[in-house]
Amino acid sequence: MIPDCIFCQIIKGELPCAKVYEDDRIISFLDINPVNAGHTLVLPKTHYGTIFEMPEQEYMACTIACRKIAMAVFRGTSAAGLNLLQNNFRPAGQLIDHVHFHLIPRYPQDKFLHAWPGKPYHQGELERVVKKIRAEF
Ligand code: AMP
Ligand code: ZN
Repeated sequence: MIPDCIFCQIIKGELPCAKVYEDDRIISFLDINPVNAGHTLVLPKTHYGTIFEMPEQEYMACTIACRKIAMAVFRGTSAAGLNLLQNNFRPAGQLIDHVHFHLIPRYPQDKFLHAWPGKPYHQGELERVVKKIRAEF
């Protein structure tokens, strides 16, 4: 537990939350600033900054819980779609440094479809990038 981490404080019961689900490893509650109503966060009770610090077993427990909770969010909000998102480090939009997954109910009229526009690779770039990534395994 990290004393000045908001999510650790929620886990300890020192701060309130709208709890959706809890087991021995995971807690899940509504995001206070939702993209759409029912936007839910899923996180391990143990403090890790990002997915890169998590032991595989812990990461697996989170992803299994995410799917289970996503089904409840999807049905409970009568959503037409659902995004499962997870941000690591500031450039990717991470604001709270306790790893967490976002479950966002989606609707045809919510107009967030093109938040991340794609762009084509330059000549030879795709080949260079795939080589660099493959070299990391
Ligand atoms: P991220 O940008 O991935 O770090 O997401 C952090 C999320 O936590 C944001 O969507 C915030 O709205 C949400 N958040 C911050 N404080 C709280 C809180 N006390 N209870 C619930 N959600 C929170
Ligand atoms: Zn924490």
